[in-house]
Amino acid sequence: MPQFDMIVIDPERAKGADIEQHTAGAPLREGGGDETYRCGGCKTKLLVNVAHHDAHGAVIKCGKCGKLNIEPHHH
Ligand SMILES: [Zn+2]
Repeated sequence: MPQFDMIVIDPERAKGADIEQHTAGAPLREGGGDETYRCGGCKTKLLVNVAHHDAHGAVIKCGKCGKLNIEPHHH
């Protein structure tokens, strides 16, 4: 089960993006695949056991540290 740290970006870079708000205490999405994504700032698990396409292009605001994360573009 691969696990990835997401990349933290500036709020400036996320302008116009569709930002998804994560809530601390539970992953934003869970299930459907085998990839887990953690916040690049505080290592909170944002996406757990999801398919790659669930993370592709996602911009997620961490509910714990408030940082904006994008997927790390692995393949
Ligand atoms: Zn965080």
